[in-house]
This record gives sequence, C-alpha cells and structure tokens, in this order.
Amino acid sequence: ATTITEYDTIAAISTPPGEGAISIVRLSGEGAIKTAQQLFKGKDLTQVPTHTINYGHILDPDSKAVVDEVMVSVLRAPKTYTREDMVEINCHGGIVPTNRILQLLLGLGARLAEPGEFTKRAFLNGRVDLTQAESVMDLIRAKTDRAMQVAVDQLDGDLRRLITNLRQEIIEVLAQVEVNIDYPEYDTDQMTTQMLQEKAQQVLAKVDELLQTASQGKVLREGLATAIVGRPNVGKSSLLNHMLHEDKAIVTDVAGTTRDVLEEYVNVRGVPLKLIDTAGIRDTEDKVEKIGVERSRKAITQADLILLVMDASQPLTPEDQDLLAATADKRRLVILNKQDLPVKLTLGDTIAEADIVRTSITTGAGVAALDTKIADIFAGGIDNSQSTVMVSNARQIGLLRQAKASLNSVLAGIAAGMPIDLVQIDMTAAWDKLGEITGDAAPDELITQLFSQFCLGK
Ligand code: GDP
Ligand code: ZN
Repeated sequence: ATTITEYDTIAAISTPPGEGAISIVRLSGEGAIKTAQQLFKGKDLTQVPTHTINYGHILDPDSKAVVDEVMVSVLRAPKTYTREDMVEINCHGGIVPTNRILQLLLGLGARLAEPGEFTKRAFLNGRVDLTQAESVMDLIRAKTDRAMQVAVDQLDGDLRRLITNLRQEIIEVLAQVEVNIDYPEYDTDQMTTQMLQEKAQQVLAKVDELLQTASQGKVLREGLATAIVGRPNVGKSSLLNHMLHEDKAIVTDVAGTTRDVLEEYVNVRGVPLKLIDTAGIRDTEDKVEKIGVERSRKAITQADLILLVMDASQPLTPEDQDLLAATADKRRLVILNKQDLPVKLTLGDTIAEADIVRTSITTGAGVAALDTKIADIFAGGIDNSQSTVMVSNARQIGLLRQAKASLNSVLAGIAAGMPIDLVQIDMTAAWDKLGEITGDAAPDELITQLFSQFCLGK
C-alpha cells in the first residue's frame, strides 16, 4: 500500500542531548514547510525545490530578533523518511537556540513528537515494516559494529523478505486446501493432508533456523552476560578495571532506562560483554565481597559466560574448588592470575587446557590472550564474514516461537488424523504470528508500545 495519510505536523530535536557542533530540529507533516517558513529569513521555503539545503536565519516571529544562523533542508513527500513533507533545521548555536527554535515551532502549532513518532509515521505510511522500525531502535542502541551490521541488514529488509516469503508459501498452500475442499467429489483428502504436512515441515525448518540465530542476536544486541567471580583478593577488581579502561567501556544511553541501574559494557574484539554484579567487585574493601562464594553463585546463575579468577600464587583452596564445581556446567574461562609471582596453584587435569588462561594483570601478561579467548568463544557462533538474517529482538523471538508452536500443532493434528479444517486453523495462526513480526498483522496497541521505546526525535 502506498497511500499517504495526512497527520498533524510534529517537531522534535533529533540530535542527542548535550553540546554538539550542530543540532537538528526536525519537522514532519503537511504543515512542516509552511511552519518553518514562518520563522525563516532567506529563500521562500515554500517555493524552493525539494531536497535542497537553504541558508538563512531563524527569527523570532514577534521580536524579529535573530535566534540562530541555520541551514534548512526542505524535503517534500513522498521521498522522505516519514513519507510526509519534512524540514530539518540544522542549527549552529548549541542547545539553547536549538531549544528556542523548537519552542517557536511549537508556538506556531507544531506538536512535540512523541518518542519514535517519526519512525512510527514511516511505518504507518508504509515506508518501513516493523522489523525495519525495530532495527532503527537497534541501531541507536548497537554496542558493537557487528550488532550495528545486524541492525543495518534488518533495516535493509532481509528479515522482512524472509518472513514475507514464508507467509506467501503458507497462503499458497492454504488456498490450495480451500480449492480441494471445494471439490469433494475428487477424493483429495490424502493429497491435501500431505501438502499441508510438507509445507508445515518446510516452514518449521526455516523458523527453527531463525530461532537458532536468536541467541547470537541477543548477545549482539544486549551483550553477553558475564560474571567475574573468584574468592577475595585474587584480582577480580583489577581485571574489571583493566576491561573498563583498556577495552573502551561502553556507556549505554537507552531511552526509557534510568541511570540508577548502571550496566557496564565492555567490548572485547567486537563481542559486547555485559558485566553482571560488578558492584561487589568494585570496592576491594566491600564487606559484600566477604560473603564471597555465596554472592558469586547468584551471579553465576545469571551469566552466559563466567570468568573465574584464581590466585596462582596460592595453593588451591576449598573456596576455589567450590567455584569450580559451581561453574562446571557453564561456559567459562578459568583465569590463573598473578603469574608474576611463584606459581603454587595446581589444578590437576580436571579442566580443559583450552579453558585456562594464565595472566598477570599487574604486568599485563596474558591479558591479550584472555581477550582472544573470549572472542574465540564466539568464533563458532558469530561469523563476521557472513551476513545472515538474524533475529535479535525479544518480540520477534516470541512471535517466532508462537509460529513454531502453531506449526507443531499442524503436524500433531495431521498425525492424529484431525479434520483438515481444524488443521487449517493452526496453519492460519502460524501465518498470523509471522505477520505480526513484520507488522502486517500487528494490533494497534503493539505498534504504539513499540514506537514509544524510541528516542525522542527518531
Ligand atoms: P579482588 O579482591 O579479587 O577484586 O582482587 P583485587 O583486584 O582487589 O586484587 C587484590 C590484590 O592483588 C591487589 O593488591 C592487587 O594489586 C593484587 N593483584 C591483582 N592482580 C595481580 C597480579 O597479576 N599479580 C600480582 N602480583 N598482584 C596482583
Ligand atoms: Zn575486589
């Protein structure tokens, strides 16, 4: 559908908060150009060709005082982000004039855009589907280049194409089933059943494939939950500090999250690690750390990856053994630290050599090898050379699981000899669920909720 619906004119500051060389105030809607023109001194924006940038000044419409020197982009529908008329005012004077310009626009009748409303309009006007809209959000939040690439590919519509094809296949088979049902004189029951079964199996295989990418996608998007554990004084704080300082800590700034839950991210060779429960590690004097193993256990259950630190200059203690046992089923690296001191620790051969890293965090020895090991853990899972369609989004994963359940019901129904029209219902449900992923069947409420997660001005 390419029909353009008219909505009111919205405005927002689209650049991140804070001081920058330029900031952008964005307008979208039928009245965007006229509204901007009322503040603009320069060429007549209502007359300039589309997709031009126009130099001029923003004047206070009452006092005629110059607010800022600006470059104004005029973008006429439909070839714009929202498919509506858009204006982007590039301000030069920092946050104060930028806010002033926004206020003036609001004074002229523009409405302050809700978070994500520009993208919501792009969706409502048929320019992007939900997976693409979500990837805008992912782009904003991307923590590594690879995560960014996944989002870019989705923005490109790879996931949408794949899902659309699957739905097309389901629809075709459902249509064929209808035809067969309409001609009961030909005994087509068995043929119909077989057709449904084959299609359900095929689609199910594709859905499973997508679901398998989900854990990687989640890691890329949200970071691999990593716990640094070990008894007191083995070097956990030192390791944490090394990671935070040397490996460029990533500060997240996600709309809707408050700062009181500070999540620490580090980027190890393109793998974002989300560090769990670093509070007890930060402060060496922390009493909490005396609880030691008990606290670690909790972090261990939440983690995807454990970095178990031990002091190589001490013989193995019962606490170390406890931690080894507690992490045995987990993906882990055992870090034998303080290698600069005489080594007294022996592990025996209970732990695979591949899972052991010997470091001296004070001298820096072995630390690069640790980074490599962490990155290697994903080498099998995350292949940088390959650009596959990946789902990374909890909503998409949930819907894929539901589609999978419906497809399994189709197969179970057929196996149990259920009537075709009941099997059809499950097949249709799978079609619906897949459609919700791309937004072809998404309820309004979902759309509103989804777009509200965006940053303002996106
Ligand atoms: P945590 O209690 O496990 O967090 O351990 P810390 O990081 O606070 O370190 C405890 C003590 O060990 C500190 O005095 C560190 O300077 C020291 N330390 C950490 N790593 C090493 C290392 O590789 N070699 C040596 N010799 N000392 C270290
Ligand atoms: Zn500590």
